[in-house]
Amino acid sequence: MRILITGGAGFLGSHLADRFLAEGHSVIAMDNLITGNTDNIAHLAGRPDFRFIRHDVTHYIFLDGPIDAVLHFASPASPIDYLKYPIQTLKVGALGTHNALGVAKHKNARFLLASTSEIYGDPLVHPQREDYPGNVVTIGPRGVYDEAKRFAEALTMAYHRAHKVDTRIVRIFNTFGERMRLDDGRVVPNFIGQALRREPLTVYGDGSQTRSFCYVADLIEGLFRLLMLPPSEDAANPVNIGNPNEMSILEFAKVVNMLTDNPAGIIFKKQDRIEGDPQTRQPDITRARKLLGWEPRVALHEGLQRTIRYFEGRV
Ligand code: UDP
Repeated sequence: MRILITGGAGFLGSHLADRFLAEGHSVIAMDNLITGNTDNIAHLAGRPDFRFIRHDVTHYIFLDGPIDAVLHFASPASPIDYLKYPIQTLKVGALGTHNALGVAKHKNARFLLASTSEIYGDPLVHPQREDYPGNVVTIGPRGVYDEAKRFAEALTMAYHRAHKVDTRIVRIFNTFGERMRLDDGRVVPNFIGQALRREPLTVYGDGSQTRSFCYVADLIEGLFRLLMLPPSEDAANPVNIGNPNEMSILEFAKVVNMLTDNPAGIIFKKQDRIEGDPQTRQPDITRARKLLGWEPRVALHEGLQRTIRYFEGRV
């Protein structure tokens, strides 16, 4: 297959590029580099089966030759990034998804949308199943990301129904691993960076809010299986991919300090908690188990050790 990955120089996009190249496919990575970085794909430079195109997918995408699959992963994805780029976030979810779907329709390619657990907002149902419609504040600071992804899901289903495009939607829950940006503001790089600098970890609020963390290799395996699934009506419906291992942010901070032998402890920064920060989040992965035969395999400590090793050379 010849695969277009938008956001191909980002955290997940670059891991997807590696995986599809390893399976013998060829990859075009497209990125405008506002939050992506060519360091993530530098090891692929010069390969005949890999191409990087610097392009903002909110503008029309010109591509010669056949394309068999479009993986739409372009978007700022961390709260501080989408607070910094609110309009770009809305545009890439709306106009960017439209252009990426346009490529899929024109080239008769399969389409995979990177959606998010954020479409559930601050959930009133726990854990979150795919049929839960969510609890999102449209006008809050996180609304730019949540609503962009909700629109992207609606547009993807519209192309599926109206234009018969073979589409997939994955709702990605908190994922971590190598190639996250140390300064992307998310809890995993923040905590590991602080721990390696021997600083106290900054817990926002009282740390009782929960997340469920999935190691990147597990996520990529789930995405790969979802894309490879034969077409069917059910394959087009959204699938949660994430690790159901839920913990409070305070507990998570203690794990990071323990794994890094950080003596500096924890400080609470109540005022730094962003309005609308979900209080709980845990994927129900029953559907992924049945449809893909997938579940996460890498334990939190193991994934964190690998991520800590990656960040060690970078702080
Ligand atoms: N958080 C924290 N300290 C930090 C960064 C984040 O306590 O230095 C909290 C944040 O308030 C949220 C959780 O960690 O409750 C996860 O935040 P992240 O930005 O990683 O992603 P989110 O799951 O909110 O999209």
